[in-house]
Amino acid sequence: MQDNFAYLLPFIMLTFGLVFLGLQTMGFKPARFWGIGYICTALGFSSPMFFADDAFLVHALISNILFFSAFFFYGHALLVQFEAKTLLGWRIGFLAAAYAVVAYFIVFQIDLRAELAMSDLMCAALLAPCILLVANKTRHVMDKVLLAATSAVVLETIIRVSVLLVTTPGGSPRDIDAFMASDYAFLMQMTASIFGFLMALAVLASVVANVLLQHRHAADHDPLTGLLNRRGFDDRSPDFRGQEQPEGTVLMCDIDHFKHVNDQFGHAAGDRVIIGFAELLKERLPPQARIARFGGEEFVVYLPDTTATEIAVLANMLRVSFATREWTAVGIDRQISASFGISSIARGDHSIHDAIARADSFLYKAKSNGRNQVVQEGMSVLTTQSAPPLKIISIL
Ligand code: GH3
Ligand code: MG
Ligand code: MG
Repeated sequence: MQDNFAYLLPFIMLTFGLVFLGLQTMGFKPARFWGIGYICTALGFSSPMFFADDAFLVHALISNILFFSAFFFYGHALLVQFEAKTLLGWRIGFLAAAYAVVAYFIVFQIDLRAELAMSDLMCAALLAPCILLVANKTRHVMDKVLLAATSAVVLETIIRVSVLLVTTPGGSPRDIDAFMASDYAFLMQMTASIFGFLMALAVLASVVANVLLQHRHAADHDPLTGLLNRRGFDDRSPDFRGQEQPEGTVLMCDIDHFKHVNDQFGHAAGDRVIIGFAELLKERLPPQARIARFGGEEFVVYLPDTTATEIAVLANMLRVSFATREWTAVGIDRQISASFGISSIARGDHSIHDAIARADSFLYKAKSNGRNQVVQEGMSVLTTQSAPPLKIISIL
């Protein structure tokens, strides 16, 4: 049973290692380090098969560097996966120092019990700081599961060392055969299998969760501006099916004569203007605003729990900021304006699109009145770029 187990463990670890290396080729960068870590672990557990019984010293030196490397790469994979600083110099320095300490016990002390305890503790010490460095960087529940699994690996190592020290007071298996036949070696292989397996599943689960989140983000965001697209906006729009009618205001924005900007200065310059307008919206609108690019140079904003009058003031500020902005950095030597239409959600609206349709009609009025202006339900704030007098015109 024990012998079979000894063969099974490297096989499981190697399989995970190869799976992770495969994932790396699909663009998941940390998978390379998870893969190398698992392959080092597989080699470490299979090393007894490759050494003669009397080569205990060389075997101990090699298996230790393999296990240390495995834990070093697990830690590195975590840091890369969570985009934390890798502190490579410090960690390589610690790896070298830890190996020197264990090598001293192997070569000079010749005490297998002390060597095993020291070796396992150093492995835990290589991984534990990396867990702490990424502890506040989790993005979803699967990231938390991954940190719990890696923490469990560290805890398991520490508990196992304690078991070794308590159960073998002063005594120690003298050679590799005695060690491989010991209860401790069996315990070590069994717990390493269980926790290594759990950690690998947790890594896979967090990779799947990351991929799903990336795809979901790509599906409901506009790649040029990072704003919501129409689908993302609809998913986040208020629910009109409940008992209470939602409240809030819709703001429609459209850049004026944008076709001329493209024709005169090129499509790339036009893109920079669209990005600039989106950044202005992100900067100036309150955090609860749901901002979307519906297409071309047309933007829609839903602001919950606000009135049209409040939003008119905000929109006028946006209008002035945009119309007075210099574009020389992107090769445009003139100013560009935008027009705005505003409508509040009204009693009897069946969806946010009823308010959007009204806001769009006010935007159309702003365009036909001469552009560079804000038109809201009931009144218009009309201003021009050159002379900004505030003139209010009743629309309804
Ligand atoms: P108006 O003042 O009436 O809004 O005039 P306009 O020229 O801005 O109106 P129109 O909607 O006819 O033109 C929008 C132009 O935006 C047409 C299209 O080629 C351009 N466009 C659409 N999407 C993009 C994009 O992603 N990048 C760039 N640079 N241009 C785009
Ligand atoms: Mg336009
Ligand atoms: Mg347009």
